[in-house]
Amino acid sequence: MTPNGKIPFVDLVTPHRELEAELLDVCKRAFQTAGFIGGPEVEGFEREFAEFCDAQFCVGVNSGTDALRFALVAAGVGPGEIVLTVPHTFIATTEAISQVGARPDFVDIDGRTFTMDPEKLRRYFETHCVQDQATGRYVHKKLAKPVTAVVPVHLYGQMTDMDPILELAAQYKLTVVEDACQAHGAEYFSKKQNRWLKAGSVGDAAAFSFYPGKNLGACGEGGAITTNQRDLARKAAMLRDHGQSKKYYHDIEGYNGRLDSIQAGILRVKLRHLPKWNEERRQGARIYDELLKPLSENVIRPHQLSSFKSVYHLYVVRTQFRDELQKHLSDAGIGTGIHYPIPVHLQAAYASMGWKRGDFPETELAADHVLSLPMFPGLTEAQQNKVIETISEFVASYAVN
Ligand SMILES: *Cc1c(COP(=O)(O)O)cnc(C)c1O
Repeated sequence: MTPNGKIPFVDLVTPHRELEAELLDVCKRAFQTAGFIGGPEVEGFEREFAEFCDAQFCVGVNSGTDALRFALVAAGVGPGEIVLTVPHTFIATTEAISQVGARPDFVDIDGRTFTMDPEKLRRYFETHCVQDQATGRYVHKKLAKPVTAVVPVHLYGQMTDMDPILELAAQYKLTVVEDACQAHGAEYFSKKQNRWLKAGSVGDAAAFSFYPGKNLGACGEGGAITTNQRDLARKAAMLRDHGQSKKYYHDIEGYNGRLDSIQAGILRVKLRHLPKWNEERRQGARIYDELLKPLSENVIRPHQLSSFKSVYHLYVVRTQFRDELQKHLSDAGIGTGIHYPIPVHLQAAYASMGWKRGDFPETELAADHVLSLPMFPGLTEAQQNKVIETISEFVASYAVN
């Protein structure tokens, strides 16, 4: 518990205090060699993170947004195409799609899991698309553009139901780029392959973010692409570094999107703790699940099937009284978050796209009802008890009346 008795939504200070000596060593080593860009720390991190994700290749980049963008370009997605994702996500997902010159379009979520509903993906193709006989690609009838890729977002630490997504991707010739920015270490049991799959190993490529608040966070910006395709990895590595195949030989036009070596070194230190941190999050989620049981009429717990192992980037409940409950918790010194209050299709940035309220009802309902409770490694059972007592108080006084 913090000295003032408040419970923060997330505690980023304690882990850095605990790892301070090791993290300072990383900086010192970098100062001694002045190797700030690329080099053995970046390569070492890429090797270790690929292994962590059960992927063959990892390319460290500047951010999760760059990871999504470079993954799409490296996979061959380009201008004039449509890329499908969900509207219940952080805007970076659609920014990356727009910035490769493609048009984002949406498939609504499954309201229980908050991830892409594969049945709605199927319906999208059956309703809106026809196959172009010349290219074999599926073209959106109204928008007159081919739909070439899908970006399932593994939201809150839980993977998307990938078996049916991969099946539809094969049927409709789609590239699959996982947005795994909230899912470092998440797993999904594929019935089709009869084995557990890790986030970052399932699609043609995947994008991770190491923004400080993520399950694996840098002390600054960072991101990575994972893939099992050598050519895709090579292309992504060129894109992050001005399209160079070797110094001053620019085969393509790229970007300045590198992961720097101090961040890579810091991420290597933290990666060693990630399995333990993820387990602490899972343990915290089990405790919340148990404590929230008696309140299940008013506060709906995360939907967790046995074929999914979430890493609980966030612990998200749903309630009709979301705004009032958030205020009650805030008054009691308990931090919470809303991920996300405005669906991407209703953001002002996309006013010209023609989307309107009612287009994606499950997403819109989630935006009105979701509340993220305090969740971080090191959250104590006493803190969790206090959170739930405060919620019970609210339910007893507010929800019943
Ligand atoms: C954090 C996040 C991103 C973007 O990552 P950055 O490193 O901030 O660019 C993309 N998608 C989702 C779902 C995220 O949570």
